[in-house]
Amino acid sequence: MDIQSALKKGQSILIDNNIISAKLDSEILMSQAVRKNKEFIILNLNKEIKKKDLEYFDNLIQERAKSRPIAQIIKKKDFWKYEFVVNNNVLIPRPDTEILIEQTLKLVKNKNRLQILDIGIGSGCILMSILKEKKNFIGTGIDISNKSLQISKVNSQKLKISNRLRLFKSNIDNFNTGKYDLIISNPPYIKKSDLKCLEKDIGFEPKQALDGGFDGLSEIRKVINKSSELIKKNGHLVLEIGFDQKYEVKNILRNKGFYIKKTFKDLSNHDRCIVSIKI
Ligand code: GLN
Repeated sequence: MDIQSALKKGQSILIDNNIISAKLDSEILMSQAVRKNKEFIILNLNKEIKKKDLEYFDNLIQERAKSRPIAQIIKKKDFWKYEFVVNNNVLIPRPDTEILIEQTLKLVKNKNRLQILDIGIGSGCILMSILKEKKNFIGTGIDISNKSLQISKVNSQKLKISNRLRLFKSNIDNFNTGKYDLIISNPPYIKKSDLKCLEKDIGFEPKQALDGGFDGLSEIRKVINKSSELIKKNGHLVLEIGFDQKYEVKNILRNKGFYIKKTFKDLSNHDRCIVSIKI
């Protein structure tokens, strides 16, 4: 079978399984199967595929047909300027989260040698994107999940920043190490009752990274509590929040001695990020 016929077949299986991005996904999975980039696929539609590669492609299509996210199937995701290794133990980096990078970089434009803490580091996409831009910053990442720390370690090596990064397995309540100029976090913030409805979209990702408890705010509260102890005076806290959590989170922050500097909207115009300062 040639590449074009295989692509068509893959696409039609995905369409039958209600995958909206069927054409694009079939191409991405083909490039994974034959280990070539997308340009090669487009320029070689009439080329025969090796039997082994075709079998691999069919398997990838079957996974996608079950709605497994593309990033988990090909085990990588672009975020900011870099490519991060991901698997089913970490939240897949979202484009909306890039707002945290953009705003953090503005805050630290003229700063040197800052100590940064990422609470719930996951794949490492937030902290590592910042460490890549700011060559003399030192990072600390904590996560409750050992398996996610394995992925962040792999990413730190791939991005050549492992010498400026310490990783700890810890839940937030038990972590008491260091004082930080800047704390960043994208904690789990989805209401328990909403998780079920979102099953189709996010059911393949780790619940631990998404479940914000009964009101969606239980982990954010813990992050703010602990940050107020670990942050230096005048240090910044940069938080990702749910689209409807701005007012509640502002109140929690104020009660813990933070001054709200600014809030930012994501690509869909939803409140997504709060920058505050410890006073
Ligand atoms: N933004 C993610 C989503 O909507 C949730 C991330 C989180 O809970 N921190 O799927």
